[in-house]
Parts: sequence; structure tokens; C-alpha cells
Amino acid sequence: MDTRIRKIALEEHFSTPGLPNYAKAFTRHIDPEILRDLAARLSDFDDRRIQEMDQAGIAYCILSQTGPSVQGEQDARQAMAYAQASNDFLAQQIARHPTRFGGFATLAMHTPQQAVGELTRAVKQLGFKGALVNGHTFGAYYDDPSYDPFWEALQDLGVPLYLHPADAVATPRALEGHPELAGATWGWQVETASHALRLLFGGVFDRFPRVRVILGHMGEGLPFMRWRFDSRFAVYPHGVRLQRPPSSYIGTNILITTSGVCSAPALLGAIGEMGPEAVMFSVDYPYESTALAAEFIEQAPLDEEVRQLVCHGNAQRIFGL
Ligand code: MN
Repeated sequence: MDTRIRKIALEEHFSTPGLPNYAKAFTRHIDPEILRDLAARLSDFDDRRIQEMDQAGIAYCILSQTGPSVQGEQDARQAMAYAQASNDFLAQQIARHPTRFGGFATLAMHTPQQAVGELTRAVKQLGFKGALVNGHTFGAYYDDPSYDPFWEALQDLGVPLYLHPADAVATPRALEGHPELAGATWGWQVETASHALRLLFGGVFDRFPRVRVILGHMGEGLPFMRWRFDSRFAVYPHGVRLQRPPSSYIGTNILITTSGVCSAPALLGAIGEMGPEAVMFSVDYPYESTALAAEFIEQAPLDEEVRQLVCHGNAQRIFGL
């Protein structure tokens, strides 16, 4: 571990015992043997997880309940109870490895008040570093002004929200008949990038300028479209007013991780668009290869100063580690 560059990873998942498997519709397409292995790795906080971290030079992970988590639970009160139980469970695991693990809160977003209460408890009482939410809640998107108390609490607590992918409410017509494009291949990216753009164009970052949202998967493609957002929004604003050009929010209020995209040209493009302080290393454990992600970031053609920022410096600054 000493010979490898120090890394902090931010999209690293676990599963809470007793939480229903809301991903059933998706996982039934996966080979049962692979599923068994994923389940074993998701529920392990010791042997295999820490060994993989050590081998890859990952000093510290912020852990999050695997998707869709309580975003898949219809009943708001049940979702709240599961979120609390999941956060308490994660806090116990972190307490056993406090120098290696931090936590992102699981939040039921069914009502903003519930989310504020549990976010506050998780950060203030459990010491969590922010929250990870798996997209919309049955079609509710968080640019809706009713969620302003949530953004206000996030801003006041000084912690980021990791906006993690989710299935769309309904399969987009363009993806019908193409299950190979659903989920992580493409469907989640469209859904999650669109949600992030709703936050941006919905004025969330104007109302709460210190809010930071983290997107995985090289920013779900958004860094590469910054120029076009400015160019077209200037021509077709449709009455929407923003305090800054759209591009300027992407890289300041919206930060990204490298999870699941181990491509050097994409990394250089993202850094070129947003600057070296907006990009952070992550793996997406256990769905992606820790070894591959570590090798990728070590070999990428970056200045050493930039590599240090991406591997750990930015995360240290943003999470106060
Ligand atoms: Mn993930």
C-alpha cells in the first residue's frame, strides 16, 4: 500500500441486512453466481473489502447502501424506518474501522421534512460525510421548490449529496426493445444527468449557492456538453433565469467522480472542462474492478499535482478529512 498513491473512494456500496431487495426486477437478468458473489462482497466490511482497498492503495472509502435502496420503497414511513436502520447499521460498521470508512446517509426523500431530519441526525450524531440518494422518488425530482428545506439543510450542514443513478419512471421510448441499453450501459446516465440538469436549470444552486452535488461515472457525461448548454440556453431560455452561465455550475456546484469510467481521454476531457479540483477518484465497488480503477488513475497522463488532487486531495478538502 505504501508504494501506491494514496486514494480516497466515494462510490463504494454495501448492503444492509433486512433491507428488501428493491433491485429484483433488474437483478433477475444477472447470472445467479455473479449475484451471489456481489451479495457476499456487499455485506462484507472486513476481509475482502479491506484487502482490496489495501492492494489498490485506497486509504479511505465513504460507503453507501446499494441502489435503489429506500428510493424503491413506496411507503414513506417504512422507507424512513429502513433509512434509519441502514444508517445505524453503517455507523456500527464504521465504528469498527473508523480510519478506513466513512458514511453517506441513506435518506427517504418521500417528504423533504423526513429527509432533513435523517440527514441532520446522520451528520451530527453519526458523523456521516453527506448523503447518497438513488435519483427520484417515484417520479418526484428534487428541483421542486418543496425540496428547498432539504437543500438548505444540506448547505447549512456543509456536506454534499451524491446523486446516484436510478431507473427512469418508465422506459424511454428510444430505449424500448433494447434492454442492453437499460441500466448502467446508458439508461441510468440519461436519467441521472437529466435530474442533475433539472437541479441546475431549476435554480437550486442559485437559491443555495454552497450546495454541492456529486455525480459518478465521469459526471454522467455532463462535462462534455458544457459549451452546448451555454450556447443553446442563450438562444432558448424559455423564461428561465440563472445567475451564471449553465456551464459555470458544472465543476463548482456539480462535482464528479471517475467511478466506472476508466478512460484516460475522458478523464483529461473532464479535467479540461471543469478544472482539476472538480474530479475525484472512485471505484463503484463491488460492481467495478478496484484493481482496474486504481491502475487507471495511476497510469493516466496527469501532472503529479493533479493526480494527487484527483486521488485524494479534492476529497480531503470537500469532506474535511
Ligand atoms: Mn454505484
